[in-house]
Amino acid sequence: MTADPPPRGAGPQQNASPQSAAAHHDAGPPLRMPLRGAGEPLASLYDVALLDLDGVVYLGGAPIPGAADALAKAAASGMRLAFVTNNASRTPSAIAAQLTGLGVPAKPDEVITSAQAAARLAAEHLPAGSTVLVVGGMGLRLAVRERGFRPVTTAADKPAAVLQGYTPDLSYSLLAEGGLAVAAGALFIASNADSTLPTPRGRQPGNGSLIQVIATATGRAPLIAGKPEPPLHAEAVARTGARRPLVVGDRLDTDIESAVRSGADSLLVLTGVTRPLEAVLASPRHRPTYIAEGLAGLLGPHPRVTITGGTFSCGGWHVSTGGAQCPQAVDGGT
Ligand SMILES: [Mg+2]
Repeated sequence: MTADPPPRGAGPQQNASPQSAAAHHDAGPPLRMPLRGAGEPLASLYDVALLDLDGVVYLGGAPIPGAADALAKAAASGMRLAFVTNNASRTPSAIAAQLTGLGVPAKPDEVITSAQAAARLAAEHLPAGSTVLVVGGMGLRLAVRERGFRPVTTAADKPAAVLQGYTPDLSYSLLAEGGLAVAAGALFIASNADSTLPTPRGRQPGNGSLIQVIATATGRAPLIAGKPEPPLHAEAVARTGARRPLVVGDRLDTDIESAVRSGADSLLVLTGVTRPLEAVLASPRHRPTYIAEGLAGLLGPHPRVTITGGTFSCGGWHVSTGGAQCPQAVDGGT
């Protein structure tokens, strides 16, 4: 009998022997191991939660039930909270105000955006005071100024870099200026490469699609700052001073991959885009350290995964491989 995968369970590890999995149970990034157990609440084990927003704290602008309460309890137990977003169009102040309005008190310096990560990436290549052509919105312009660059709007100013991030009023003329500057040799950096932007009307073109305009016209691909690339995670760790961060997200290919590539532990919540079966089938680079239905998963212990023969067990659920590739649940939860 097949059944829905458990809310907490192990992705079967096709090539991991029970011995090797057990030997690595509590060590290192879980590249080929099952989920890790935790005997005490994650809010006690990790000093800072690096929280994704959409699908974690809110969904399409509406608060996710229980999220604000869980975050308040995590903060009360000593865990610091930071909000890490690929959104480059809005400023940290605007995002903090939105969160506070949703019942999640947040200050601007607790919000880290891909615009800030893009500006940091530029600072690794350019001296302070350099001119930067911003193909984006207020969030990106502010981040560029914060790093000591001088934002300009035309290729005629011979910018040292072009930084592109999503903004809903992006114009052809600005794209044209960006294309001219990149063609003339400016460094090309993108805040993020999300190809689509989820909206109530469906998936609209995201920054990953928009950067293809300049990339196609010039034959030059940009450096990427946002998840799953490491710069945004590095920016979040630098700004929070986190010593043992826990990445919390709803997407395997951005939040969780970012954590894996940065060597950080992660909690996948199932309140956003990832369905339980996708989590079970995740490839090693998309595999979280912990899984929970929602942010309440920060507040309690996590049962460890045990392996008996070819069967993985966790929290009363049992999963075994039913062929070369396909996992099959062999028993329901208890
Ligand atoms: Mg998300």
